[in-house]
Amino acid sequence: MKFDTLCIHGSDTKYDSTGAISVPIFQSATFAHPGIGLSTGYDYSRLQNPTREHLEKTIARLENGYDAMAFSSGMAAIAALMELFRPGDRFIASDDLYGGSHRLFCHISAKNGLTFDFVDTSDISATAALIRPETKALLVETPTNPMMQVTDLAAVSKLCREHGLLLIVDNTFLTPYFQKPLDLGADTVVHSGTKYLGGHNDTLAGFLVVKDAGLSERLRFIYKTTGACLSPFDSWLMIRGIKTLAVRMERQQESAMKIAQWLCKHKKIKKVYYVGLPSHPQYGISKKQATGFGAMISFETDSEKTALDLLQRVKVIQYAESLGGVESLITYPMLQTHADIPKEVREAKGINERLLRLSVGLESSADLIADLEQALRD
Ligand SMILES: *Cc1c(COP(=O)(O)O)cnc(C)c1O
Repeated sequence: MKFDTLCIHGSDTKYDSTGAISVPIFQSATFAHPGIGLSTGYDYSRLQNPTREHLEKTIARLENGYDAMAFSSGMAAIAALMELFRPGDRFIASDDLYGGSHRLFCHISAKNGLTFDFVDTSDISATAALIRPETKALLVETPTNPMMQVTDLAAVSKLCREHGLLLIVDNTFLTPYFQKPLDLGADTVVHSGTKYLGGHNDTLAGFLVVKDAGLSERLRFIYKTTGACLSPFDSWLMIRGIKTLAVRMERQQESAMKIAQWLCKHKKIKKVYYVGLPSHPQYGISKKQATGFGAMISFETDSEKTALDLLQRVKVIQYAESLGGVESLITYPMLQTHADIPKEVREAKGINERLLRLSVGLESSADLIADLEQALRD
């Protein structure tokens, strides 16, 4: 089946006999046993619930994975993943990382005895140079948030195989519609389902998707034991969101390209970071490993005042954290997602008082451009 069909019919399991087209919301914490030692396949909703199972099967198929687990948020998924590691283990991660992942690693995982090396993973030799005998995993965000660095997934996957590292890819920005990391050699894919997968800025969710049965078994054990599972109702909202993933991604990308090109020509915009522009340093890698560029744009204005004015003047676009939904949102990374990153580190990456990040939604691109135009007026 093609991807857009799988978004709608990703799991063909029928959970009841009414013929319901929309999968029912099984709002039940527990399930009766038909007899001693017998199970319907469902015992307790922390372990599995039919609505959540339908969602997980769909995500696993979309990512070409063996199994997918649905969590109550993206951070819950990443926190569960960290339970695979032991005190003394080292972990390499992209240096331009989602702020929440950075906070988890430095303030919680570090306390539990893990050591982190942060590097621009688009630089393969710099990444390779950090590998030590205690290094167990590499986590790559590609494109990164907010600087849009792209990592060559086939190259890092080769590196990880040579050194026995687990390769984890945060695929939140492109989704499996544009990029399938497991096909390129990753072992695990992480998602904040809150973003494009849900797509409506109304539900928090997270996913771990794995390629093989062994890793699935280890993570399922952590999943049922630590318990940050997605509720039946939120699972249903995710299922509903994913049905339109393919059309949303296409249209949002189309508008993002128009907006990125428009920003490049504006006199108050000094730099535009969009992976779909041929001037992007890793444009060639993006073309090779992904079927699209997504709809996230970062840009640098000519002054702090321009950035602050723009945030206060936008009307259609809203000043809010998060991304990937039908509503266009603009953020100020320095004050929001990246507030916990030390100033020197942040500024060295280009996350300064002039940098803004735009998540292009599903509104008319003409309205979005008109909104930016009035917000950038003198
Ligand atoms: C939002 C986000 C997360 C965290 O997900 P939540 O659903 O907010 O917990 C992780 N990675 C990336 C790239 C994100 O954008």
